[in-house]
Amino acid sequence: MMKTSNAGRTGTVAKRGIVLKSPREIGFMREAGRIVAEALTEVRRLAVPGATTADLDTAVATIFRRHNATPLFKGYPSSSPGKPAFPSVICASVNEVVVHGIPSGRELCDGDILSVDTGCRLNGWCGDSAVTLPIGKISLEAEKLLTVTQATLDLAIRAMDRCQYWSEVASLMEKYVKSQGMFVVEKFVGHGIGQDMHEEPQVPNFVSVGLRKADIRLEPGLVLAIEPMVSLGTKDVRTLSDGWTVETKDRRWSAHFEHTVAMTPDGARVLTFLED
Ligand code: MG
Ligand code: MG
Repeated sequence: MMKTSNAGRTGTVAKRGIVLKSPREIGFMREAGRIVAEALTEVRRLAVPGATTADLDTAVATIFRRHNATPLFKGYPSSSPGKPAFPSVICASVNEVVVHGIPSGRELCDGDILSVDTGCRLNGWCGDSAVTLPIGKISLEAEKLLTVTQATLDLAIRAMDRCQYWSEVASLMEKYVKSQGMFVVEKFVGHGIGQDMHEEPQVPNFVSVGLRKADIRLEPGLVLAIEPMVSLGTKDVRTLSDGWTVETKDRRWSAHFEHTVAMTPDGARVLTFLED
């Protein structure tokens, strides 16, 4: 889920409200991240033709409850006036839905792709991650979309070790997606994360005007949720009347991968992996 909100309450404030985290705090975030990874692993197991996205939501809610972790998405207020808060623990976005799909009784079909995004707070610290999964056997084109989007996230994480500023990473992401004949969705961006899911800074997957004005220095203690959204036909999206579901304007398919990543003195570390 993507929207920026106020910065966290503690820690070292760098510039523009960015709150750097101590190694101990990053350790707490790693624990939250592990639970998110466990939830997405279970989703991967359950996401087969005939399953409903509501089933997957229930499964993730159960895992969070078992760990005494609080879901971050359920009850998240809408940014559109008069629209309801987000009703579920996961976002389940099928095919042309880019992000923020609401779980339902709709059965997944062979050949669909499903993006699942979720997050939790454990002992006051947050984790946030997303994957796009193939349902049964998918087309070659859909397979390539998933491969390219996953590779965009992976290359960003690797680049954080050697780049000084986020704009260098964003530029690599943008160029790679373009080289594959696909499109980076620009309407939504990643974000800082800590005690709140959405902290400063905004983390675009392209070199935005904002980044040109005020870049993000990749320094130890910075923790970002990095989440490229890539589509086959256009970067343009629209939000449906439910106030949440975001689909591509041309209704061609889109994928989304996300990890919570901490900068440490030894480089970038993914916090939303199952095992070290
Ligand atoms: Mg997310
Ligand atoms: Mg996020």
